[in-house]
Amino acid sequence: MTATGIHWDTIRDEAVTYLGDLLRIDTTNPPGNERAAAEYLAEVLRREGIEPQLFEPEPERVSLVARLAGTGERGPLLLQGHTDVVPANPDEWSRPPFSGEIADGCVWGRGALDMKGTVVMQLMALLLVKRLGLRPRGDIIFAAVADEEAGGFVGAGWLVDHHPDLVRAEVALGEVGGFTVFIGDRRFYPIQVAEKIGNSLNVTVRGASGHGSQPIRDGAMAKAGEVLRRLTDNRLGHHVHPAAEAFVRGLAQAQPELLGLLDERRAAAVLAEMGADARHFEAMLHNTASPTIISGGNKGNVIPGSVEITVDGRIIPGQTPESFLAEVRALLGEEAEVVARRTIAGDSATAEQQAQRAVQAAGIPPTTEAPVNEFFAQFQPIIDELDPGALVVPYLMPAVTDARWFARLGTPTYGFGPVKLTPDLPFWTLFHSADERIPIDGLLSGTRAIFRVLERW
Ligand SMILES: [Zn+2]
Repeated sequence: MTATGIHWDTIRDEAVTYLGDLLRIDTTNPPGNERAAAEYLAEVLRREGIEPQLFEPEPERVSLVARLAGTGERGPLLLQGHTDVVPANPDEWSRPPFSGEIADGCVWGRGALDMKGTVVMQLMALLLVKRLGLRPRGDIIFAAVADEEAGGFVGAGWLVDHHPDLVRAEVALGEVGGFTVFIGDRRFYPIQVAEKIGNSLNVTVRGASGHGSQPIRDGAMAKAGEVLRRLTDNRLGHHVHPAAEAFVRGLAQAQPELLGLLDERRAAAVLAEMGADARHFEAMLHNTASPTIISGGNKGNVIPGSVEITVDGRIIPGQTPESFLAEVRALLGEEAEVVARRTIAGDSATAEQQAQRAVQAAGIPPTTEAPVNEFFAQFQPIIDELDPGALVVPYLMPAVTDARWFARLGTPTYGFGPVKLTPDLPFWTLFHSADERIPIDGLLSGTRAIFRVLERW
């Protein structure tokens, strides 16, 4: 078999089998239980003569690392993915979320896009390199890790802390990116090159407490209401990161009015015209602070003296926790005590785990930034093969991924797992949503695209 003699139909069927099997392994995080997924991948690799290493820092939380040797002329390329998935409520799905069913040309299931589908593309691309006997100049590392959806503390974070030499690479491919975005009559493939910084906050308001039979109109409850109103009615600072600017300028080729998003004075008006897409663009261009948990009072007839609101805060790279805090404080006024949240990802973690994670998190660099360079430039011709006429654009991810952990080792991650979608199957409605699915053709084209990168490494 040569690179030109690959039987892509067979590869497609093989990829569909692997993905279906992985989707049927329930790795909902929490609790994760990624062991079965890691062992499944290990078995596939061993059959091909690749011996992986498995790590289990906590019971059932297994991550896998495998390596294919290159000639050593350059550093390794890391294919990084996670095997855990976010929860799925079967009542909201048209098919059981852990069935791996095939219907309407798609493989269905929680994780089909995020990101077992991409893990399978990476796996297939790696197997092809091995089967063809290719010797890339640098090693290819394949890491399928646990725990990304809860912060990566017992997955990528643990590997980076305990086995840095196994995963250190010149560059990495991971999530999120390479899914078709439709603007006007043009198609775009955003590739993640940077991501926002998580910075959750606790907001506490205080006031007189007393018996519920006698109203208190200016107490903690009223102040909490005011905090919620201010947080949801207003936007924080507008900060244009270079990746967000490149993204918007790219998309503006199809819809010039989008350029207004880059101008602080016009951004709100443009967002107002965008409908459901606005949330996403707003997050890419602003620091954000979304209230998520409110707690106060513990007795039905006592007006509480304090109410605490947990706020999911996200900072645009380049801004600092201090400048972010200042923005939130300015918005909420002096009555609200605003502090950075001490709890580190994973509210179900024990106190001991929390403490350990806080230490781990202290070492996380502010964010990951992958340069838009020669390496990035190869994505356009690859997408040209997949979807002629479509344009590759850099992308600022408004959430966090494991890329920030690998960045600690100096490894930049590009979100590249290309899937050609159709206008009736828009990416942002599938990611972490009910009826998550991946077109079978997309699974194959993504495999081919990642294989192209490996071929050239
Ligand atoms: Zn993911």
